[in-house]
Amino acid sequence: MDLIENLKAMNEVLWVNPDYEPFEKIYPHLEIKKEDVIEAKERFERFEPFIKKAFNLDSGIIESKIDEIDDYKRWYENEIGEKIQGKILLKRDDLLPIAGSIKGRGGVYEVLKIAENLAIQQGILNREDDYSILLEERFKDFFNQFTIQVGSTGNLGLSIGMISSRLGFSVIVHMSKDAKQWKKDMLRANGVKVIEYEDDYSKAVEMGRMESEKDPNSYFIDDENSKDLFLGYAVGGLNVKEQLEDMGIEPDETHPLVVFLPCGVGGGPGGVLYGLKLAYKDIVHCYFAEPTHSPSMLLGLATKKHNEISVFDIGLDNRTCADGLAVGRPSGFVGKFIENMIHGCFTVSDEKLFYYLKGLYSSENIFIEPSSLAGFNGISFTKDLYSGKSPYYIMWATGGSLVPEIERVKLLK
Ligand SMILES: *Cc1c(COP(=O)(O)O)cnc(C)c1O
Repeated sequence: MDLIENLKAMNEVLWVNPDYEPFEKIYPHLEIKKEDVIEAKERFERFEPFIKKAFNLDSGIIESKIDEIDDYKRWYENEIGEKIQGKILLKRDDLLPIAGSIKGRGGVYEVLKIAENLAIQQGILNREDDYSILLEERFKDFFNQFTIQVGSTGNLGLSIGMISSRLGFSVIVHMSKDAKQWKKDMLRANGVKVIEYEDDYSKAVEMGRMESEKDPNSYFIDDENSKDLFLGYAVGGLNVKEQLEDMGIEPDETHPLVVFLPCGVGGGPGGVLYGLKLAYKDIVHCYFAEPTHSPSMLLGLATKKHNEISVFDIGLDNRTCADGLAVGRPSGFVGKFIENMIHGCFTVSDEKLFYYLKGLYSSENIFIEPSSLAGFNGISFTKDLYSGKSPYYIMWATGGSLVPEIERVKLLK
């Protein structure tokens, strides 16, 4: 069966990118440079005193740890009845402050940038200031004249809502039907206006964009096209190098860094991929993971139609319990940016997400949300590509720490 037939049949598939190019060759042609990612990293740093105080944290650094999950590895080896060469690492973006998901990178970053630009233009903030002054009432009054809007399946809305409301902005989140009730409740409890649609993610984004255009004081966070979101995510990829060095891990040809990233519209995994590429060039191999019901990025890349094709066009329904990945049409901006950098994409069935959840929970006592487990199919899928090598596998856990106890119990069941 050819690829599209397999996607239509909702079979799990691996697509290996035939257009991969060495990083050095494509870098000169890219419109986003390493300096841009470093500038984003520095902006995060300026905001550390604010984040620390505003969210009552031990540190204002928006970063997550990397765990080695040996017990999971043993569980999985036992399940599949064979040894896995290499180490398995879990990147804990489920624990990121503010949003409890990878959206704490991109979503938070874009709002910080808007706030900083507005305050500097107004002459009430300097880059050299201690940014915790942003908690003063006069800043809230100032930011309150502006509205931030976003369309989301849940987590992006949560991240934008939490950071924007803390700064004092008015916030409107346009939620797709996939969004979980607890996410809407949490936002409303924080003074965020939530508008619900009986439609999917693309519609929520479209409505948000339209509403925002009506108001000159409104900023729309455009998940499908935003370079700032992308930069916020890219910082996470770049930071991995230092973290792994601290763990004594230095990937090379025989020990490549193989990273599995759950993908929705593409901004999160795309940005992280780019940061990783800047740090590791061709030693890092990135694969995106999507539900069999919503393989939008795979479809866009494989057909080269990017945002001009959706999973509905091949008869799929975009219905999945991986709510964070329920996106039918990928970002055209991200797809085109990464088309020669990504190693491949694969799909995962909803049932498998729960299988991996059980495995991770029983072996490591770690709970992450279903979307976050999509990458766990990667090891078996790419096995033949790495025979004779001993990779460092990174499963990028993209969300989960804010899931309420009662929802956890349901999911684990
Ligand atoms: C948003 C999200 C992703 C994917 O990010 P995109 O930018 O939509 O591709 C993955 N996992 C979780 C939990 C998410 O919330």
